[in-house]
Amino acid sequence: MALGFLDDVGLSLPKTGRGFEPLPLPMRYAILGDIHSNLTALEAVLKEVDRLGVDRTYSVGDVVGYGGAPREVLDLMRERQIPAVKGNHDAAVVGELDTAFFNPMARAAVDWTRAELTERDLDWLQNLPLTIDMEDGSISHGTYAHPEAYEYIQSTDDAEPSLNLQPTMACFVGHTHVPVTILRLKEDPTRTFYTVDTEVDLSLAQRALVNVGSVGQPRDEDPRAALGIFDAETGQFRLHRVEYDIDREAKRILAAGLPEMLASRLFMGI
Ligand code: ZN
Repeated sequence: MALGFLDDVGLSLPKTGRGFEPLPLPMRYAILGDIHSNLTALEAVLKEVDRLGVDRTYSVGDVVGYGGAPREVLDLMRERQIPAVKGNHDAAVVGELDTAFFNPMARAAVDWTRAELTERDLDWLQNLPLTIDMEDGSISHGTYAHPEAYEYIQSTDDAEPSLNLQPTMACFVGHTHVPVTILRLKEDPTRTFYTVDTEVDLSLAQRALVNVGSVGQPRDEDPRAALGIFDAETGQFRLHRVEYDIDREAKRILAAGLPEMLASRLFMGI
């Protein structure tokens, strides 16, 4: 009669089976756009990620290039275990992409970055995948349809092949450093729209391709670091902007001997 006794004092035996399995939690994702070796911006964005209580953080690539703290940024990415896809600058640094088509400033930063990094850093970059499919969305640097080509999505037409191919409703990208959402609505999936709204209800979308802007080198004339937050339960996407100490990163770029423009553009968000 042990069971009866336990019940009498308000205890119960541990149950087994489905009743005690945790239900899947609704996921909130933080998506980090082009970080570009900007340590202070990344630290500020991760502080906001912690404040918001996000479940998972991902990066859409271009973790390095342009900025002056590639080693520190890669250390932080590994410490926080942030999965990333490979951007064109990441690929160029490990010799997988010819920099002949890079502008001279970008090329100078790629060469400088390669010399700064350890073997472990270079291995980490080399082993990045071109796309990641999460439970509630996908990630690529330029396009989902041709990630190895590093094409820019600057129109709804540019987005069509990716929208047709992506396995789930949402796909997150970077590359242009300009936030925009391109979407097909459930009520009429034959038409493709875009919006630059910072809050978008993706529960209305049949397919959406979201450019989350850039953490470390915004180019939408807003110098604050960008951070995309996607709530997979409600379908809400929100682009947050975070102030950071731009002066600190600009000085680091100049101290590294990198082109002056790479420092000054950070203040203007271009
Ligand atoms: Zn980039």
